[in-house]
Amino acid sequence: MTIQWFPGHMTRAKRQIEEKLKLIDVVFELLDARIPQSSRNPMVDEITSSKPRLVLLNKADLADPKQTAEWSDYFRSKGLATHTIDANAGTGVKDLANKAKELLQEKIQRQIDKGMKPRPVRALIVGIPNVGKSTLINRLAGRNIAITGDRPGVTKGQQWIRFGGELELLDTPGILWPKFDDPIAGFRLAATGAIKEDVIHIDEVACFVLKVLVENYGPALKERYGLEGLPSELPDMQAAIEVLESIGKRRGCIVSGGHVDYDKTATLLLRDLRSGKLGRMTLESPEA
Ligand code: GDP
Repeated sequence: MTIQWFPGHMTRAKRQIEEKLKLIDVVFELLDARIPQSSRNPMVDEITSSKPRLVLLNKADLADPKQTAEWSDYFRSKGLATHTIDANAGTGVKDLANKAKELLQEKIQRQIDKGMKPRPVRALIVGIPNVGKSTLINRLAGRNIAITGDRPGVTKGQQWIRFGGELELLDTPGILWPKFDDPIAGFRLAATGAIKEDVIHIDEVACFVLKVLVENYGPALKERYGLEGLPSELPDMQAAIEVLESIGKRRGCIVSGGHVDYDKTATLLLRDLRSGKLGRMTLESPEA
C-alpha cells in the first residue's frame, strides 16, 4: 500500500487511532524485526500512551535471531513488553492472547475479585504500512478479510475478530506513518520494501544495503554471489559500487557494450534480501 503522508493525513491517522483506543484494552505495536527502530512511528509513544502496549517484532523469519533477541532486551529495558512473531507462517501468534493478558493482569484480577468473569482482551494492531498488519489480522481471523484502515466514522461498522475465546481484535488496524526526517531510516525502510524505490533511487538503496551486509554478513554475501576478496567494510559510495559491479558481473546483469546494469543488479540484490535468500539479516542494531 502506498500512502502519501501529508500533515493532514497524519492528524487524521492520529485521531482515528485515538478513537479506536477507546474500544480496546491493549495495543499491539507491530514492528519489522529487521529494522525495529526505523519501522517505528516517531509519535507512537505519545499516540498510544493511554493503553498498555505489546511490541511485536514481526517478520522474525527474515531477521537475524541474535539481533532479534538483542532488540527484545532493548525494548524490555525501556519498559516495553515484546514478543517475536512471523505473521506469515503464524509462528508465535497463538501466544498473543496470553501475552496480552499478562499486561492486563491487575485489571483482570480486579474483575475476578469482584466476582466478574473476565471478558476477552480487546486489542488494536498499529504500525506503518507493509509491516504485516493485514497478514496478522488475517492469521488471527483464520481467513482472508478485506482490510481497510481508512474508513470514515471509524468507530462505526467495525468488526471484532475473535481468537480462541480470550482475545478480540479490531478488524481495522491503526495505520501510522514512518519516519521521514532520518535519511538512514529511509534507506532501511526502502531496503525492506516498506517504502517504494521511487522515493529513493534503487542504486543508492543497494549501496546502503551492501555497506551493512559487508560489515555484518560478509560470508553470506560472498557465498550467495561467489565473490572473492570482499573488504571488511565499505568506506564510501565508490567502494559499494565496486561490490555491486562484482555482483552484476557474477550474475550476468550486463547491458550492451559489456557494462554492468546497475539497476538490474540492485533489483536482484534487494529481491534476494527481502525474500531471505541471502539469509536472515537485520539492518540495524540497538546500540546504534
Ligand atoms: P500491512 O500494510 O501492514 O497490512 O502489511 P501486509 O500484511 O500487507 O504485509 C506486507 C507484506 O509483508 C506482505 O507481502 C506479507 O506477505 C509480508 N509479511 C507480513 N508478515 C510477514 C512475516 O512475518 N514474514 C514474512 N516473511 N513476510 C511477512
